[in-house]
Amino acid sequence: MNRVFFIALLISGFLFFSCETDRKIPAEEQYVVMLSMDGFRWDYASRVETPWLDYIASHGANAEYVKPAFPTKTFPNHYSMATGLYPDNHGIVDNNFTCPEHGTYRLGDRESVENGVFYNGEPIWVTAENQNVTTASFFWVGSEAPVKGVQPTYWKRYDSSVAFASRIDTVINWLQLEEEKRPRLITFYFQEPDGTGHRFGPGSQEIDALVMELDSLVGVFISRIQELPFYDNINFIVTSDHGMTEVSPDRYVNIGAYTPRDWYERTHGGNPMMHVTPKEGMMDSIWNILQTVENVSVWKKEDVPARLNYGTNPRIGDIVILADSTWSIGWGKPRASYYTGGAHGWDNTKKDMHTIFYAMGPSFKEGHKHTSIEVVDLYPLIAKIMGLEPAEVDGKLERVEGMLR
Ligand code: AMP
Ligand code: ZN
Ligand code: ZN
Repeated sequence: MNRVFFIALLISGFLFFSCETDRKIPAEEQYVVMLSMDGFRWDYASRVETPWLDYIASHGANAEYVKPAFPTKTFPNHYSMATGLYPDNHGIVDNNFTCPEHGTYRLGDRESVENGVFYNGEPIWVTAENQNVTTASFFWVGSEAPVKGVQPTYWKRYDSSVAFASRIDTVINWLQLEEEKRPRLITFYFQEPDGTGHRFGPGSQEIDALVMELDSLVGVFISRIQELPFYDNINFIVTSDHGMTEVSPDRYVNIGAYTPRDWYERTHGGNPMMHVTPKEGMMDSIWNILQTVENVSVWKKEDVPARLNYGTNPRIGDIVILADSTWSIGWGKPRASYYTGGAHGWDNTKKDMHTIFYAMGPSFKEGHKHTSIEVVDLYPLIAKIMGLEPAEVDGKLERVEGMLR
């Protein structure tokens, strides 16, 4: 063979091979698995060794922080992650609230949590199922109720006692199902480090130890998906709903000392955000007194600052009371056990309320550093990766698409 011809053959073979390995996997062949670790503050991973989160960052994309929705609580945010909507627009306006049409919703009350009437908007698994994509969820707010009449094909009733490792086992089992039955979108949830952050505070050694443990679990999961024959098709997202800040009974405002609780028809929320409805005729007295209280912001619901996207939903009480950063509010003397350690729920521009985003897989650039995204952007991100026709949402693809290949 002549030399020139041989070299040309080598080059074309190389080009063919490199195109082949860079072949973009079609959206309809890509998987998305999203894990939320509750209350994982944006900076926790920088305090200890987290080799597996680092592994995702170097093989994929990592945002400096994620801005949660207000109020920076678990239920409103997980449902914002699922629907791409702010709480005003998806209806889960707090961990507990009263709906004028459907009555009381409470995080701990199975009946309300599993009642589809409370959930507006369209969770990503509903969008997917409606477009013939099988989905699964091992705990996620909204997945335990039919929304628009649709639930994930596989789902679990919330039970905090199920070990994290066993949740991983089940997710892997789902991924090992035969192709016709296998979910292509999976969401799953750990209730830590939120619990430990509340109990010991975000600056505690307990958090450091737990973050390393959670990182190892992420490693277990990655190692197991790497054994799957279609590993190259799997996008894995690790994120969370909000951060955590230190509280103290020394920075506590007893709202009940200014305005007795029986002046109100309804009081919802808790520390650090309450939304309350005064009894008939009590609005002016309550409003005037609350204006004088220090270390809290008080707004009529229609006057909540626009940047918080909160106040138009009829499920929100007439007045919103928000403690200043690191301050707490309540209805009596501060119970020391409750107002020590950590809490969340404050203004979503506060740094301590921000959370994490790591993602790797066929759709993500390698080693991509992103500044920030919002929890509502996860919906358009996942829809784009999977080639789903998205519902109209508050989230913005423009804020996330820079991390995509
Ligand atoms: P919070 O820190 O008050 O915003 O709420 C966090 C708590 O929500 C965690 O301790 C979880 O146990 C609980 N939680 C999370 N998901 C669910 C769910 N699907 N059903 C009931 N409780 C849940
Ligand atoms: Zn949470
Ligand atoms: Zn919490």
